[in-house]
Amino acid sequence: MDATTTPPTALEILNRTFGYSSFRGAQEQIISHVVGGGDALVLMPTGGGKSLCYQIPALLRAGTGIVVSPLIALMQDQVDAMRQLGLRAAFLNSALDLDQQRQVEHALLSGQLDLLYVAPERLLTERFLALLERAQIALFAIDEAHCVSQWGHDFRPEYVQLNRLHERWPKIPRIALTATADGPTRNEIITRLQLEQAGHFVSSFDRPNIRYRIVEKQSPRQQLLRFLREEHPQDAGIVYCLSRKRVEETADFLAAQGFNALPYHAGLDARIRQAHQAEFLRGESVIICATIAFGMGIDKPDVRFVAHLDLPKSIEAYYQETGRAGRDGLPADAWLTYGLSDVVSLRRFIENSEAEERFKLVDLHKLNALLGLCETTRCRRQVLLDYFGETGSPACGNCDTCLTPVACYDESTVIAQKALSCIHRTDERFGAAYLTNVLLGKADERMRRFGHDRVSTFGIGKELSAEQWKSVYRQLVAAGLAQVDIEGHGGLRLNREACRPLFRGEQAVKLRRDPDRKRSSAERRAP
Ligand code: ADP
Ligand code: ZN
Repeated sequence: MDATTTPPTALEILNRTFGYSSFRGAQEQIISHVVGGGDALVLMPTGGGKSLCYQIPALLRAGTGIVVSPLIALMQDQVDAMRQLGLRAAFLNSALDLDQQRQVEHALLSGQLDLLYVAPERLLTERFLALLERAQIALFAIDEAHCVSQWGHDFRPEYVQLNRLHERWPKIPRIALTATADGPTRNEIITRLQLEQAGHFVSSFDRPNIRYRIVEKQSPRQQLLRFLREEHPQDAGIVYCLSRKRVEETADFLAAQGFNALPYHAGLDARIRQAHQAEFLRGESVIICATIAFGMGIDKPDVRFVAHLDLPKSIEAYYQETGRAGRDGLPADAWLTYGLSDVVSLRRFIENSEAEERFKLVDLHKLNALLGLCETTRCRRQVLLDYFGETGSPACGNCDTCLTPVACYDESTVIAQKALSCIHRTDERFGAAYLTNVLLGKADERMRRFGHDRVSTFGIGKELSAEQWKSVYRQLVAAGLAQVDIEGHGGLRLNREACRPLFRGEQAVKLRRDPDRKRSSAERRAP
């Protein structure tokens, strides 16, 4: 740039270099904050436009923007995309040979780079830090900043060391970015990266055009079919299943019912996967039945529904997956069917994994938070947003619990006490179906043999149907009062700590009253 022209503004760069007409959300404030030398913490949902928040400041400030990212596999793509826009970008990671590394280092030192992507373990080597001493640095961008948090799967010990950047270069602005930020994660990012004084830019995670609905699982495929026929007969959408086998079965089933449904999972041949994805992107009413392998980087604006036949593993996962619906801002549905068997299989999956104990604990917490969402009597969106730290939002009017308020049992606490004492009286070994029979006073040979037709909870629950008791047990598990013993055969155990105040009458619970379908359909048939 010659001395007579004034430097471009952020907006001019947005227009000319990136080809976009206006900033989105808080992008403009974030950019001007960082250009001015301030530190920033940026929380924005995926697809919100985080990258521009460091790319443009890197262009506006003298020197090279250093981008720390754990996603080595994506660096090449990111750098290619930027070069196509005419930016001078490069990356340094273990994929480069020595010669290529030298070239990048030379470019850095001679001021020929706008952006340099580095993996954290490389950044923190003494050699690289010394190199940085000799370069001019525009800013440090710390992408996927939640990796600094132990409260999650993506924890990367090297991220904790990134506060050294601040100690060594106190005047260079840092911008930490993430799309994953429940309360504990956010706090950990702030303290570990010493961002207490930074500007905190938190975008809303709300997707107002998505209607959330979570239904009790009875015959999932038939329920799905009804949902599709009644609400989305011609629409494009995604159906998520937990296993490859289930993906195949569901795609076959829907195809047999006349839908244009295609399977997608990591076990399929890459060419087939590619073809199915392309058809989904191109077609107007293609349904993809997929495992969670599907979705990363899929940017189809008119996905009208995302259905889950199995429970996702956390609220974050649910949010990410349902977030692929309605990118165009038009009404879209997030539909999930869930039952106690999902809880059993996910718990078993977590407990049997090879992960360290502390990770398992985190996973169990996350699963429980998701169960809380499934069983809530509040607005689903409020629960979701609360989870991401956005408290105080009003009830949305666009989720199932808002549209059809949940009825609760007046006697919720008594019902909970009955259900829990029944677990206790039968020695914490039996599953919901057996316990229900005890409560209903339905003894069989096996129950008599155990003597459970003589326990004090035998026959004390006739005011509820079998299905309603099943729902009560699910809610008690979701509320953390009982838990599924996955070592045994899905028997229920008490969480004594949590139950104590309830038994003492010091704490009340609220249980949703699921409609008693058997009775009500019988009533409907009656003249
Ligand atoms: P994130 O990293 O938050 O997931 P990206 O930075 O990858 O999101 O941006 C998501 C998409 O939105 C990209 O295709 C990007 O080019 C586009 N985008 C970002 N900011 C704007 C804007 N101001 N106007 C139009 N498109 C934008
Ligand atoms: Zn709502």
